[in-house]
Amino acid sequence: MKIVQTRDELRQLISANKNKTIGFVPTMGYLHDGHLSLIERAQAECGCVVASIFVNPLQFGPQEDFESYPRDAERDARLAERSGVDILFIPDTKEMYPKTPLTTISVAKVTDSLCGASRPGHFDGVATVVAKLFNLIQPDKAYFGLKDAQQIAVIKQMVTDLNMPVDIVPCPTVREPDGLAMSSRNVYLSDEERKQATVLYRALKTAEQKLSSGQWRFGKEVESGVCEIISSQPLAQIDYVEMHTFPELERTERVEDKQYIIAVAAKFGRTRLIDNILFHGEERLPYVAHNDEGQTA
Ligand code: AMP
Repeated sequence: MKIVQTRDELRQLISANKNKTIGFVPTMGYLHDGHLSLIERAQAECGCVVASIFVNPLQFGPQEDFESYPRDAERDARLAERSGVDILFIPDTKEMYPKTPLTTISVAKVTDSLCGASRPGHFDGVATVVAKLFNLIQPDKAYFGLKDAQQIAVIKQMVTDLNMPVDIVPCPTVREPDGLAMSSRNVYLSDEERKQATVLYRALKTAEQKLSSGQWRFGKEVESGVCEIISSQPLAQIDYVEMHTFPELERTERVEDKQYIIAVAAKFGRTRLIDNILFHGEERLPYVAHNDEGQTA
């Protein structure tokens, strides 16, 4: 594995590999099995795997955790190499932004809800850095985790709108044995917060069951039901619980035969966690009307 810190070195290595299929995995580092699953998928599908580690200041709000975001480049390099990365790009902020950029990318509509609403400017920062990385690396395929499903919706929209010649490959969320979605931010959690944070996935799985069995049929029912379950944990402070179509991210009234996302964000102490599941309306039991006595009509 080659480790490079400058755009020039990266460009040279990319042109030396231009006869191969290039797979790209962008990350902010502090790698865990979720990141490694993307690298392994890229390794299985591509002749040259490029990963980047860059904590992108542009996507953090002024009160957010840019400074304290966990970093461990040496450990990351060991894990990346073991998982099959060929080129690891670790630029510093000056290398990525020699000057404050006057050109940024802003994707409309799919950023109006969820994290786009609660973290203003976040997805402009994400889209801008991903576009810069795509321009440098020119990947054939880029791998993103569904843990950040709205990010996938944003990047897909950007790639379509700007004719970027790259396939976006969504990959499943990797979880701890108790269901908590793996995240670099999980290290911030105290023991008690960590224990209570498992409620997020439990609540999402309950929603999936109630939707499949036809007990819940409306977006509002799902949102209030999931909120109630999460609120049973005293340390959980809910930011949002929303059900939308996916990847369009339009609000759901009655559940139809479409793909939906049920997405949650909540703070446990000072740590903000997100999670989601995708659900297809076709997986519901057929609707059976009941009369007032509970008899099938
Ligand atoms: P991050 O370093 O958090 O910016 O994440 C880099 C990439 O890894 C993004 O595409 C994330 O969606 C993906 N990722 C993060 N956590 C997970 C996870 N638990 N399972 C699968 N992919 C993940």
